[in-house]
Amino acid sequence: MPNSLNPRHAVYAGSFDPVSLGHQDIITRGARVFERLTVGVGINPEKSPLFTPQERMDLLQRVLKPFPNVEVACFEGLAVNFVRRCGAAVMLRGLRTLTDIEAEFTMTLANRALAHDIETVFLMASEKYSHISSSLIKQVAQLGDDSTNEPLESFVPHDVIASVRAKFQRFEPGHKPMGFGG
Ligand code: ADP
Repeated sequence: MPNSLNPRHAVYAGSFDPVSLGHQDIITRGARVFERLTVGVGINPEKSPLFTPQERMDLLQRVLKPFPNVEVACFEGLAVNFVRRCGAAVMLRGLRTLTDIEAEFTMTLANRALAHDIETVFLMASEKYSHISSSLIKQVAQLGDDSTNEPLESFVPHDVIASVRAKFQRFEPGHKPMGFGG
């Protein structure tokens, strides 16, 4: 079969547990650079995510609404294999910190060894979002003041706030829900 990976199609893979303003920013910018963008929600059996894969996809759908060239799907196994199954030639990643660079460098070399025809493209995180991670969001949601959305507004897209808060509402203060992880 001829290799027909599309160089104008990128896949942005991650756990998105939940989607953050930083992810939304990478998606917005990626949608401008590529003709087609697939956001891939990774299912990792070794992790205990807060949101199920379906919930993570539903939250992403709310964020993707304005972008006709962006779709969401979930996958198990290696991200490069998912990129290939999508027919995309590019893996899109976001870079936040120096620590990210080290980990991403290793991962990129491994992915290149696995799939030399798939290129990794990095977008630098925007200054105002570079501190945001999904684990930080979970901490803010769990430990923050329950009576206001304000703290979460700096971290997650507006349409996602209620769902994040709902995950923590049934727990007593100080009680850590199962699956709360880094
Ligand atoms: P997290 O590290 O927040 O759990 P993911 O594992 O879902 O996020 O990350 C998926 C991709 O998104 C990775 O390339 C990661 O570097 C990037 N990313 C995560 N948070 C941000 C952010 N705040 N700004 C830019 N890129 C980000």
